[in-house]
Amino acid sequence: MRKKIVAGNWKMNMTPSEAVKLVNELKCKSYSKDVEVVFCVPAIDIVPVAEALKGTSIKVGAENMYYEEKGAFTGEISPDMLTDAGVSYVILGHSERRQYFGEDDDCVNRKVRKAIEHNIIPIICCGETIQQREEGITLDFIKSQIVGAFQQVSPKNAAECVIAYEPIWAIGTGRVATSQQAQDVCEAIRLNIRELYGEEVASSIRILYGGSVNACNAAELFAQEDIDGGLVGGASLKPDFADIVNYK
Ligand code: 13P
Repeated sequence: MRKKIVAGNWKMNMTPSEAVKLVNELKCKSYSKDVEVVFCVPAIDIVPVAEALKGTSIKVGAENMYYEEKGAFTGEISPDMLTDAGVSYVILGHSERRQYFGEDDDCVNRKVRKAIEHNIIPIICCGETIQQREEGITLDFIKSQIVGAFQQVSPKNAAECVIAYEPIWAIGTGRVATSQQAQDVCEAIRLNIRELYGEEVASSIRILYGGSVNACNAAELFAQEDIDGGLVGGASLKPDFADIVNYK
């Protein structure tokens, strides 16, 4: 049985002092024990957020990471920096990174392998544009992103990864995919993983849906056979984030 995950992605929205205030508010809520909760926060917020979350079961994630160990890479954050600060998850290949910062499948793959090497669980994002959906090439495109991200990743390591299906047209738009649309793509992703790694890995890897998830639509989305939780943007900054986690 796959344990559900609900991960917040704060994006570029909280200064360190705002982050601590928000965490202190959110950590007082009660969260279902059946769901793993992760706050993926901006790099500068990681240390204060990890400190504020001590003694809770909520985990800290990063929104990005570089694939080199150390050196002359001004402005980048290494895996050791993240683990030393208490990070256990990292979002990789988010469409905003691909779109605005030129990250391609090869870059995402390097980051995935480096995260695994450091025992950081990658949350690997994929998702189509509205044009791709209308052209009917969604599943082919997603498959290429999945195959690209998992190059040279062993079956054992792949099973530990998390995939987030985030249709670009549903991100921050309030236009959520229908539960059937989301399920269809998440099922196809699981089939892609089965082709790459076999049934055991496919049935244990966790696949999330992201894109305008909120407290009203979470229950229906997360009830789908192949959806193991959510990657939540805007609604992760609000007190009712707890209602998304406690969707049942
Ligand atoms: P929204 O939930 O704000 O649509 O953002 C989704 C997302 O990009 C999470 O990574």
